[in-house]
Amino acid sequence: MSKNDSIKKTLDDVRRRCDVEARLRVDPGGVLHRYDDPLDREIVGLVAACIAFGNVKTIRSKLEDALVRIGPRPAESCGPAALIKRMRGWKHRVFLGEDIAKLVIGARLVQARHGSLGARFKIDWDETQNLKESLARFVDAIRDAGKLHALVSGRRGPAHLLGDPRAGSACKRLMLYLRWMVRPADGIDFGQWPISPSILLLPVDTHIHKLSRNLGFTRRHDLSWKTAEEIAAALAVFDPKDPAKYDFALCHMGMLQRCPSRRDAARCEGCGVQPVCVHWR
Ligand code: SF4
Repeated sequence: MSKNDSIKKTLDDVRRRCDVEARLRVDPGGVLHRYDDPLDREIVGLVAACIAFGNVKTIRSKLEDALVRIGPRPAESCGPAALIKRMRGWKHRVFLGEDIAKLVIGARLVQARHGSLGARFKIDWDETQNLKESLARFVDAIRDAGKLHALVSGRRGPAHLLGDPRAGSACKRLMLYLRWMVRPADGIDFGQWPISPSILLLPVDTHIHKLSRNLGFTRRHDLSWKTAEEIAAALAVFDPKDPAKYDFALCHMGMLQRCPSRRDAARCEGCGVQPVCVHWR
C-alpha cells in the first residue's frame, strides 16, 4: 500500500469511528442543529464561530447563555436596542455582550440586503474567485453594518470578534464557520451556502497544526493562511471535492490535547493516526 493510501485509510478509519452524536453534544457546532431556519442557523453559526476561543466547554456554555438572551429566532427576535440591553452582563474573554449584539445586528442587516449571509458571500466569491479576498469582503460587510470597529469603543473586543483574512493568519474561527455553512449536510455540517466545498481550508488551531505536521501535511511552524493552504492541499489529495471533511473527526480524536509530537509509547497509545504518524513510520 502506498504512503498516501495508508494515510487515506487511516483518516477514513478515524472518521468512521467518530461518535458524531456524542461529539456534537459538546461541540459548539452541535447547537446549530437546533435551528430549522437557515437564516437563524447562519447567525447562530456566526456567533458560535466568533466566540470559539479557548476551552470547548466554556465556549458552549457562553454560547448557550448568549442564545437565550438573543431569543428563539436569532434572525429576527427583538430589535437592536432591546438586543443590546439583553446582552448586557454577558462576557467571554475580550468580548462583551454589546459586541455580540452588534455582530448579530450587522449580520441581520447583511441578510436584509442580500437575502442571506450565504448569498452575500456568494457575491464576494463570484467577484473575486479568491477565498481570502471574498472572506475579507464578507467580514467587512458585517463589520461595517454592525459598527464593529476598535476605535468606536476603544476596546479590542469589537474588532477582534471577526478575524481579518488580509492579515495572513489562518482565520480558524472564520474557517470553522465556512465549514458549517458550506460542507455538504452530513449530520455535522449543513451545506446551506451555494459554494463548492473544494475551496475550503481547515480551521487550523494549534492542535490541528501539530497533527498536520505529524502527518507530514506541512512543515511550516506558523499558524498562517499559507499553512492552512498547505494542509488543505495535502488533504485534497484524498478528496479534492471536500478536503475539510476530515476536520470534525480529527479535532475530536481526543488525543490532540496530549499529543507529544514525538515517539512516546505511553502517550501515543490509542492515537488513531499512529500508523501514519511521522514519528512512528
Ligand atoms: S502517534 Fe503520538 S506523536 Fe503521532 S500524532 Fe498521535 S499522539 Fe501525536
